[in-house]
Amino acid sequence: MIKLENINKSYMVGSRPLPVLKGIDMEIKSGELVSIMGSSGSGKSTLLNILGILDSYDSGTYHLDGKLIKDLSETKAARYRSEMIGFIFQSFNLIPFKNALENVALPLYYQGVKRKKRNDLAREYLDKVGLLEWADHSPNELSGGQKQRVAIARSLISNPKIILADEPTGALDSTTSYAVMDLLKQLHKEGMTVIIVTHENDIAEMTNRLIRLKDGVIESHNALHQHV
Ligand code: ATP
Ligand code: MG
Repeated sequence: MIKLENINKSYMVGSRPLPVLKGIDMEIKSGELVSIMGSSGSGKSTLLNILGILDSYDSGTYHLDGKLIKDLSETKAARYRSEMIGFIFQSFNLIPFKNALENVALPLYYQGVKRKKRNDLAREYLDKVGLLEWADHSPNELSGGQKQRVAIARSLISNPKIILADEPTGALDSTTSYAVMDLLKQLHKEGMTVIIVTHENDIAEMTNRLIRLKDGVIESHNALHQHV
């Protein structure tokens, strides 16, 4: 599903390149539930953004579902991204003046799907995350865990093959974090490929494999559990 070979990435800081990823080799199979850990600044978000086709890389190759990502033009990349990938962020990134249903339906709005169809689908996904009764509520009326579940429903509505989550439980207390992880584990059981960046050991322990990054290099790949 995902294959990175010798990926290098620098950011320009002033006139100097700052190497952030240094020769990353990584393979993630379809249906895996993987966590990525590493200290602040080790390159986790940069790696996730490259995996999610939100950021480019300088050298190496990235194949996603057999396609070489570097070859895609901007519009093609955007289309491939919305087909393949659902993103979840620590800060939820919900639109405050839209209700839960409209937030979930948003990706379909951008794809030009008609209102009735997108609302029907949004209801289906809100139901899947246990929040159908909250459809009419705005994000500020929801708890952190509920907001993240709305964000997960939004990431699922375009039927992606991969969920990329950048510290999805970083803003949540531990009970709420476990509820969000249960949902991500359930998606994994349904066959979804899920990659989670986290700072928390107990979150990483809920995944099948842990990849540790240190200063832009993969330090270890540890198998955790065969079946979570
Ligand atoms: P954290 O745990 O704090 O989220 P991280 O592992 O996700 O950290 P990244 O956000 O990938 O780390 O950043 C890696 C390095 O790249 C850091 O030194 C950061 O300052 C630098 N960096 C990230 N984005 C940019 C950018 N757009 N421009 C310049 N430097 C950047
Ligand atoms: Mg980060």
